[in-house]
Amino acid sequence: MDRRFVALVLLGAAACSKGEAPAAKAADSGITRDSAGGSVPASAAAGSGATPSTVAGSGAATTSASAPANLQGRIPVLEYHVIAGDKNSAYTRTAASYRADMEEAYKRGYRPITIAQMLDKDFSDVPAGMSPVVFVFDDASDSQFRYLEQNGKLEIDPTSAVGIWLDFAKTHPGWKNRGTFCMLNGGAAGHNFFGDGPKWGGQKREWRFQKVKWLADQGFELCDHTLWHMQLSKYPDAAVQEQIARNAMGIDSAVPGYKVRTIALPYGLWPKNRPLAWQGSWTDPKTGKTHSYKFDAVLEVSGGPARSPYDPAFNAKSINRIEAVGDDPRKQLARLDSTKTRFVAGAGK
Ligand SMILES: [Zn+2]
Repeated sequence: MDRRFVALVLLGAAACSKGEAPAAKAADSGITRDSAGGSVPASAAAGSGATPSTVAGSGAATTSASAPANLQGRIPVLEYHVIAGDKNSAYTRTAASYRADMEEAYKRGYRPITIAQMLDKDFSDVPAGMSPVVFVFDDASDSQFRYLEQNGKLEIDPTSAVGIWLDFAKTHPGWKNRGTFCMLNGGAAGHNFFGDGPKWGGQKREWRFQKVKWLADQGFELCDHTLWHMQLSKYPDAAVQEQIARNAMGIDSAVPGYKVRTIALPYGLWPKNRPLAWQGSWTDPKTGKTHSYKFDAVLEVSGGPARSPYDPAFNAKSINRIEAVGDDPRKQLARLDSTKTRFVAGAGK
């Protein structure tokens, strides 16, 4: 029960990433050599041959219902940890920067989807000529989803990531509740389904499942991130499977029958036996019951914009992400435009 505290001490300072720079570089250069290139047959283009329109006030924006489809283009999967404070650092992003990221994506014609939708090639939430973006929230801190209790009623804290999202959506038509939450359910420092005690943003333990269920009910995706953020590369197979299975069990307790399809690797570290990241089982010694898991997607920590599910080289078991650090989200979105490598939805769904 207590090694979780040892392992999770790391969380506050260094959440998901470790030593991923080479991968990031490799994939980065992959953008330009990628074959996607920007064009898919004109027959797939949305609308007629209208010239692309430009959004007022933003020369860089390419929001346009007439952009030609590019189903093999890249999809930015942005990765967030703690949303708080007044200074950005590796694993903390200020509310202002997070909101600015959404604004930038919106302005450029992106609409949010989940990893599950990406796997299913379900771009029904992305109008023709626009592009999908995936916001992924790791580690389940209270900063992502906090309740305020007022006169016995619970309200979502407007300064938490979910609260900011909802507020943004009010003034940005088409910004739906789509995103992926890769959660811990036994992490230290309150990283247990968004805060498990008053010390963590005044949250109550009994609110945990309610939050997870609310997310699922709204259309957000629930994703496995292990029980307490284990460095999977350092443990034997049995421990790896226990960590992953018990996180999926926690999600099932909050939302009975929920089919978890995605896992995010803590620190981007693979287990020694790689397939155990997406398939395995654990037998609870107390009950003798075996709990299995089988996921469709594995999220890396970094690597640049992800490949499209239409790209023949797409590997659902290794989906790259962009860490929302510093100015990277804006730069990556700008680069997808300048290199014309971004995924653009077509008219047909
Ligand atoms: Zn993490």
